[in-house]
Amino acid sequence: MAEREQMNIVIVGHVDHGKSTVIGRLLADTDSLPEGKLEFVKEYCRKNFKPFEYAFLLDALKDEQAQGITIDAARCFFKTGKRDYIIIDAPGHIEFLKNMVTGASRAEAALLVIDAKEGIQENSKRHGHIVSMLGIKQVAVLVNKMDMVGFNKEVFDTIKAQFTEFLNGIKIRPVNFIPISAFHGDNIASKSGNTPWYEGPTVLEQLDGFSNKKKNAEQDFRMPVQDIYKFTEKGDDRRIVAGTITSGTIREGDEVLFLPSFKKSEIASIEGFNVPPRKEAGADEAIGVTLKTQIYIKPGEIMVKVNEQHPNVSSKFRANIFWVGKSPLVKNKKYKLKIGTMRSSVKLVEIISIIDAAQINIDTFKDQVERHDVAECIFETPKPIAFDIISNFEQTGRFVIVDNYDIAGGGIILESVDDQENSL
Ligand code: GDP
Repeated sequence: MAEREQMNIVIVGHVDHGKSTVIGRLLADTDSLPEGKLEFVKEYCRKNFKPFEYAFLLDALKDEQAQGITIDAARCFFKTGKRDYIIIDAPGHIEFLKNMVTGASRAEAALLVIDAKEGIQENSKRHGHIVSMLGIKQVAVLVNKMDMVGFNKEVFDTIKAQFTEFLNGIKIRPVNFIPISAFHGDNIASKSGNTPWYEGPTVLEQLDGFSNKKKNAEQDFRMPVQDIYKFTEKGDDRRIVAGTITSGTIREGDEVLFLPSFKKSEIASIEGFNVPPRKEAGADEAIGVTLKTQIYIKPGEIMVKVNEQHPNVSSKFRANIFWVGKSPLVKNKKYKLKIGTMRSSVKLVEIISIIDAAQINIDTFKDQVERHDVAECIFETPKPIAFDIISNFEQTGRFVIVDNYDIAGGGIILESVDDQENSL
């Protein structure tokens, strides 16, 4: 059977605006709940004279998952005809931010929930900032509890206008605003008769409409060079360039380019470790290649194909970082930077904004990045280095910062500043 496509989405919103209800609805309406679960929770509520809540359903599921140990309690799964979804719903947690900002886990899209009756809250804005910080480009806003405002188009339009303006201000272009009632199921899995004035997609149509990341194998070729082994064959000095392919495929005869040195050659042979040479190799394989011409390259360079999209080469980049260092990240101090197999010294040159992960407070005036802060910054290396943008390549788009032999921060690269590729 073909492997099912998986997509991670984040759901955020002010407490009580209906996140759990949206998730419960999505699980129920896509038949993703264990058999009898919904009836069991409804029956439990009836017996205990409590009104049914989707949040109870989620609690019951999480208890069960927690007993299964392996499943992270903050995750929920549901399926559509198109793919499997993993919902991550713990944006307030430090662990969540850490995983997302260090690139350990990535979400392709975000749903932002706003209560139609209460309107936009400070937290709605904070969550918008987080989504922006995580570099998530696909965002849909669910205007929930439309039943409580009589499915009034004007209420919806006002929230849409106000929140669009706010989101645009923080570089988010929401793909859609969807009027829903999570509790009653309006516009979740099927179009609601209560909103004849709304012509956009349902929540499920919206999710299936988001584009997913490419699989490693389908992406352009990347191999961070781990080492170069020299050996002598028939009196000739030869070299094997070794590394693990992080994405794409490579064949004998392919023209390759090494960055940041911009040196070019052609693949003469592909050697495996303890396996016979082969004509082709792909993502996740550890290989060694010999080249047709003798070029001098260094460990830490990225090997790519000449005819594919290249990484950026620059000594400056804009990134989001999650700081866990004992001492704060400060400007102009020398740190060590690791991207793939590359090592360089690095300096923080500019702080654009900081969010304190525990409080989710946004602070644009702080002059240093403290433990558990998430910050958007510009870093500079003494010489140009090669890297990718996180939304294109995961492994060569994330980095680690070392302070005094300790890992002090992890981050994702958002943009190359002063890219060199075009100037050559
Ligand atoms: P969360 O804190 O964001 O996860 O919010 P919940 O999903 O727990 O919802 C908070 C409350 O709002 C609960 O009592 C829900 O039943 C209620 N609620 C959620 N969605 C709707 C809706 O569409 N209509 C109405 N009337 N109530 C809703």
